[in-house]
Order: sequence, then C-alpha cells, then structure tokens
Amino acid sequence: MKSVIVIGGGWAGLSCAVHLAGSGYQVTVLEAGKRLGGRASSFVEQKSGRTIDNGQHLFMGCYTETMKFLKTLGTLDKLKFQKNLGVDFVSRTGKISTLSCPRLPSPLHLFAGLLRLDTLSFSEKLGMAKVHRAVQKWDGNGSLSKITVEAWLKSLGQSDRSRRYFWDLITIAALNEKSDVAEADSLAIVLKEAFFGSIEKSQIAISSVGLSDLLNPACSDYLASRGGKIENDKLVTGLNIKDGQIQNIQLRENRTMSADYYVSALPFFALKNILPDALKADSFFGRISHLESSPIFSITLWFDREVMDQEFCALLDTHVQWVFNKNKINRSQETGSCLALVISGARDFMGKSDDEIIKICLEELGGCFPKSKDARPVSHLVQREKNATLSPKVGYAQYRLSQKTPIPNLFLCGDWTDTGYPATIESAVLSGVKASQAIHENRA
Ligand SMILES: Cc1cc2nc3c(=O)[nH]c(=O)nc-3n(C[C@H](O)[C@H](O)[C@H](O)COP(=O)(O)OP(=O)(O)OC[C@H]3O[C@@H](n4cnc5c(N)ncnc54)[C@H](O)[C@@H]3O)c2cc1C
Repeated sequence: MKSVIVIGGGWAGLSCAVHLAGSGYQVTVLEAGKRLGGRASSFVEQKSGRTIDNGQHLFMGCYTETMKFLKTLGTLDKLKFQKNLGVDFVSRTGKISTLSCPRLPSPLHLFAGLLRLDTLSFSEKLGMAKVHRAVQKWDGNGSLSKITVEAWLKSLGQSDRSRRYFWDLITIAALNEKSDVAEADSLAIVLKEAFFGSIEKSQIAISSVGLSDLLNPACSDYLASRGGKIENDKLVTGLNIKDGQIQNIQLRENRTMSADYYVSALPFFALKNILPDALKADSFFGRISHLESSPIFSITLWFDREVMDQEFCALLDTHVQWVFNKNKINRSQETGSCLALVISGARDFMGKSDDEIIKICLEELGGCFPKSKDARPVSHLVQREKNATLSPKVGYAQYRLSQKTPIPNLFLCGDWTDTGYPATIESAVLSGVKASQAIHENRA
C-alpha cells in the first residue's frame, strides 16, 4: 500500500485524503490546529457555549464535488437547501425587495424571479438578458481575464443601479472582491454555473450544524477504517528535498516524517513558509509571490429578542452585505436572536476596533430591521480573517499553480490552486480530488 502525507486539514486536504483512502492509499493528515475545516470550520464559543462558524458560509447547488464529498462522509443531509432560489434585499430604510425564483426551466426561473424585484426598473431587468447572452457565448478560456467585472458589466449596458443593487452583491459574495478589482472571468463562471445554471444549481444551501461538524468525526472514521489517520496539533515546518524529490517533512522538535507521496493542502501564503529556499523563487513555485488575499470580517451579535423575520438576507447601501438569523437556521429553541453578519472585501475595516465595527453594525441593522432598535444587544464577537480568500484581481489566474508540481512526489491542493473556479469550498474540494487523481496517474 503506497503511503501519502497530506499537510493541512482544511476542506482541500480532507477531500484529497478521503479520495486517496477510497482509492487504496494509506493516508496521514497533519493539521497544525486543534480543529478540522481550516477557514471553513467551527468552534464552541466560551461565553455563549454556542457553536460558531469561522465566518458564515453559503453553499450552492452547483458545488458538485462538495456534495459528492459530503455524501461520502454521510453528512450531506446536514445542508439545508432552499426549495427555490430566493433572497430578500433589505434597504437602509427597512424596505424589502424580494428575488423569488419560481420552478421554471433555467434561465426563465431567474428572469421570472427578477420581475418582482422592485429595486430595478423594467428596462434594467430586461437589460440583464445581455449578461445572460454574453455568458452563453463566453468560451471559458480566459477571454475575460484582462478586464474587471465593472468594465465588463458596463460594456454590457448594465446601469449604475443594476450593478449596485444586484451584480455587485453577487460579485462580493461569490468572489470576495469589489467589482472594480475582480476579473470578469471569475464572475462569468459563477453566473454560468450557478445563477444561469439549472434551478438545482442555483439553490443556496446553509449548514444546519457547525462547519467542522460536517467533517468531523466522519473524516477521521473514514480514514481510520482504511488504515489512515488524522493528527491534530502537527505543525509542518519544512519540506526536506534530496535529489530533486521530497525526502521527508520537518516537524517541530527536530522530528521528521516520510511517505511515498506528499500533498500540500496549505493556503499559498503558508506553503511559501515551508518550501525549501531553492524552490521559493523557481519558475513554478515563484508564481505564488504574485498572489494576494482579500479579507472577510464576520460579526456575531446576540440580542435579547427577535429582530428579523428572514433566515438570511442581503442588505443594500450598507457595509454589512449579508445577515444570517442563526436561531431560525438552526431551529434553535433559544430566546432572543443570534445574527451572523458578513463584511466581505473588508479592506476598509482592517484598522477599526471592535467597538467601532459594532457601532457601524448596530446603526445599519437599526435602519434595516427597525425591531433591532428596541432590542438590547447582549453580546458580540468580531472575527477578522485577513487572508480569507485568494483575491481574483485582474490577471491573477495565470499565477494559480497546478496540482501536479515539477517535484515528482509533491502535489498541491487548496482553493487557490488552479481549478478554474473562484477560491471557494467547491474549489478546495475539487482541488483535493485533482491532487489525488494526479498521484494516481503518476503511479500508473
Ligand atoms: C469568513 C469566510 C467566509 C467564507 N465564505 C464562503 C462561502 O460562503 N462559500 C464558500 O464556498 N467559501 C467561502 N469562504 C472560502 C472557504 O472558506 C475557503 O475557500 C476554503 O475553506 C479553503 O479551504 P482550503 O482547504 O483550501 O484551505 P484552509 O481552509 O486554509 O486549510 C488549510 C489548513 O492547513 C492548516 N495549516 C496551515 N499551515 C500548516 C502547517 N504548516 N502545517 C500543518 N497544517 C497547516 C490550517 O490550519 C488549515 O486547517 C469563506 C472564507 C472565509 C474565511
């Protein structure tokens, strides 16, 4: 049985490990932290005793590999899918405009859903068909990689209002970057796969349990039953190379571990730290230095009473882009409410204190949900994820690395590697499958 060491227990590393173990490899996952799931994980918050995600995550029906992965683990039923794509857009004055897509063949479902959205004029809605036509014609070969989302949408006649109240919200949610920075190719794939895909693919899903609970103990059990294991608290500090191959990996206290194959499932900025100096600047790995991250701030707010009726909604003209009503989503019997707020592309928030952030959030919620003005904020938690996702800025795709590397026994996975998808859970899971397949091909 060939052995593999997977470095990193996020969604990419675990997807790779499960795929390899299912194909007959003996797999050891080494994870630096105490929990599994990396940037999409959860933990028990001490003050409230509640399970909190490391930032609210949305899944989409088009996350094909993620669904397969969770099905293998037996936890797919923990994702709650919307019956039809539906989102309430709430303005700062509390006005609600609803996108509610009926069960019609795609893309009719989306256009029928848009008709009821009263933030846009009829002609602005009709004009959106131009984006649909452009996406149908888009070749997927990087033809939109040199222009921003903003420039692309303007060239398709999208008005300021339709960009601000519709396309920008999709862009920031899916790409974690503003439309004047993000490349148009990345939005085109999201639109093709999700919004203009089948009704099933455009459905939004939310986990009804903590994100780590989707993975653990299912992954450990799956690997253990196939001769593998997951070791937490195992920080890998280096890759030792000899005769053009990885000889072993370096752990703390001068320990090393070896296997037939090695997979780095680390984010690009963490991979840089363990690469041998000789590789850091070579023509393959050196490309990493061109990649950048984009931040997400996640704010959890507890109130003494219900303040919103929806399970989740998008906010308009606010810094907070999305609000999730956790008690409703998790069918919790707890009194009061627990809201998860998301600020993506949060560069402007980097220097702000918790108090400043909470003040902004409360002001914005007060406008959007008048009930919150009478409610007492009981507690809060601010989570700053500086390196939340790979920034899909114009030209970035050429610097994403393939899962196969020039080192014959070293493979890569991670949401940032070249999958053709923006850096999401789906990209992470798909990259893990691709790395596993690359090992299999190498062996054959
Ligand atoms: C706040 C937030 C909100 C998001 N929202 C969404 C969303 O709604 N939908 C969506 O699809 N995606 C979303 N994402 C993106 C998604 O979380 C990531 O794309 C995905 O989790 C990346 O998984 P990964 O396995 O590639 O990397 P990671 O999750 O970063 O996994 C890497 C793992 O390696 C470990 N590690 C690091 N260094 C070492 C070392 N030296 N030795 C051993 N282990 C090490 C880390 O502890 C980590 O567990 C969001 C991300 C954030 C932060």
